[in-house]
Amino acid sequence: MHRLNLNITAIPAFGDNYIWLLTADGPACAVVDPGDARPVLEVLVNQGLDLRYILLTHHHDDHTGGVGDLLKKYAARVFGPDDERIPFTHDTCREGDLVDLADLQAQFRVLEVPAHTRTHIAFYGENALFSGDTLFSVGCGRFFEGTADDMQRSLDKLAALPANTRVYPAHEYTQSNCAFALRVEPENAVLKARADEVDRLRAAGRITLPTTLGDELAANPFMRTHEKSVLEAARKIDPGAMPGSSAMAVIRTWKDRF
Ligand SMILES: [Zn+2]
Repeated sequence: MHRLNLNITAIPAFGDNYIWLLTADGPACAVVDPGDARPVLEVLVNQGLDLRYILLTHHHDDHTGGVGDLLKKYAARVFGPDDERIPFTHDTCREGDLVDLADLQAQFRVLEVPAHTRTHIAFYGENALFSGDTLFSVGCGRFFEGTADDMQRSLDKLAALPANTRVYPAHEYTQSNCAFALRVEPENAVLKARADEVDRLRAAGRITLPTTLGDELAANPFMRTHEKSVLEAARKIDPGAMPGSSAMAVIRTWKDRF
């Protein structure tokens, strides 16, 4: 069978959210985390697209707020975590479930990645990862409903995916994340190069995403809590910091005050 070409583009929403739009060769499409219906409807109408699927990483309003209005116009199937705070009918997704977007010939595996919220999930497939508010470029989400242990386990799970995986987080936070990461690892050459690239992109009004897991493993301090340089930085704050979730807790608290 002829294989469709999957395209992934960003629909900006609010100040710094991205709603990811998945299209193939025909009108069928999917969106990830539509916090606002208006910009999505505009794109769908302009491009003559038919919304068939909505993927949700977590219940927060800036990721789900547009679903109701989208469902008034499109008979889309909604996939999301098993969480009573998501107020509309959806297919509940568990670790290892396969989400089949048949009209796009695309399949995504569900990964449970709690910490930002207790039921946060990510979608992995087609060499792409939709990481919601768990993994950002050069950062990670706040631990609203989980612990540093949870985030360490969640990021370890993502780190095990192929390094060339393209990562699509839900926010444009990269520039401020780089500013903090440079405080943690001022000598990290990959991070310095990424920060320069991000400054150029933002100065030109451009998006800094997607990133890749390989780039994140090299530049993101929250994915580097076993590295000596990150541990040393954490120990300047808390001399008892240990590799892994202990260092994760220290640098997350540090960033929250940054
Ligand atoms: Zn969130």
